[in-house]
Amino acid sequence: MNRLSAEDQSKLNALIEKIKRNTQNFLGYPVSKDFDYTELQELLKYPVNNLGDPFAECTYAVDSREMEREVIEFFAELFRAPVNNWWGYVTNGGSEGNMYGLYMARELHPKGMVYYSAATHYSVHKNLHLLNMPNIVIRAQQNGEIDYEDLNHTIRMNRHMPVIILANIGTTMTEAKDDINKIKNILNDAAIQNYYIHCDGALSGTISPFLDPRPAFDFADGADSIAVSGHKFIGSPTPCGALLVKKSHRDRIARSVAYIGSLDTTITGSRNGHSPLFLWYAIKTFGFDGLKRRVEHSLKIAAYAEERLRAMGIAAWRNPNSITVVFPEAHEQVRKKWQLASEKGLSHIICMPNVNEAQIDELIVDIEKYQMELV
Ligand SMILES: *Cc1c(COP(=O)(O)O)cnc(C)c1O
Repeated sequence: MNRLSAEDQSKLNALIEKIKRNTQNFLGYPVSKDFDYTELQELLKYPVNNLGDPFAECTYAVDSREMEREVIEFFAELFRAPVNNWWGYVTNGGSEGNMYGLYMARELHPKGMVYYSAATHYSVHKNLHLLNMPNIVIRAQQNGEIDYEDLNHTIRMNRHMPVIILANIGTTMTEAKDDINKIKNILNDAAIQNYYIHCDGALSGTISPFLDPRPAFDFADGADSIAVSGHKFIGSPTPCGALLVKKSHRDRIARSVAYIGSLDTTITGSRNGHSPLFLWYAIKTFGFDGLKRRVEHSLKIAAYAEERLRAMGIAAWRNPNSITVVFPEAHEQVRKKWQLASEKGLSHIICMPNVNEAQIDELIVDIEKYQMELV
């Protein structure tokens, strides 16, 4: 390869500066930035590709599948998967994991109806469209949690159809968690025999196992599959995620594909071989206790932010044990500086593990400044 031209070099330098600068004031998106994967740098020199199923043999050997399997095993334990009945892979993100869960549900229940709340991530609707699955949006409560009464009522109107639930384990805007115990009770009371529960744990899937009380979201609670993002709470330079599913479900699909002579169980063929390494490295260096401490830190900062905002008369609130603080839409300049997402008159900050009190203090100063301007 030739060297970059002077012009292109300065373009690249400017980009690096921009990214560094914009990483400083970053409170509005659920992305951790406190990672250091320099030990893995050497591997950027190689075309690492985890082609196909991480648990099946493959002739392409420039891969990190062994580490990928360890990552999946870690999540299987964290999500209390049934012994010897779990499977999964490292995805390109939560959206792909959600697509996989819905795909699995459709293969098991081709005549099923999908139910999900109005607070669901925008990618789910697109996935349902791609998969051509009939679906019904259920009302969300004020806090972002699914409206169980509306769910109950709607399921009963369609009780001749298998039920596919897409439960939110941390909604994008308010980090609300649907309670799959309550959902299962609704299904049992309506005598629904055939159902499938997929949990979208993109944000809170990796947080929930460390919370007390532990939210009802995992395999022991009744989930059939769970998707998480890896670049959110854990942190990664490239988007990534993990998908976990009961192995008995996945075997039904693997068989039908074996029919055409392959064990092609993942959505894409070539798969990122670097992202499993980031997750593996994080899991190994943080450990269970380190991740727990990250959760505790985030909760502490969220409580601090909520308190500071309330002290200045702003109606800030958050869901129980949530690291997302919601408040009436902030001034445009504040939103721009801190990259705050806004929706329906609400802004939020997400206290990821890298956020500290000093940043909250600085945000408060900015909010105060514009509050004065408005009076
Ligand atoms: C971020 C997010 C997703 C999408 O995950 P990606 O990793 O960005 O693909 C899905 N659902 C929820 C609730 C999210 O917060």
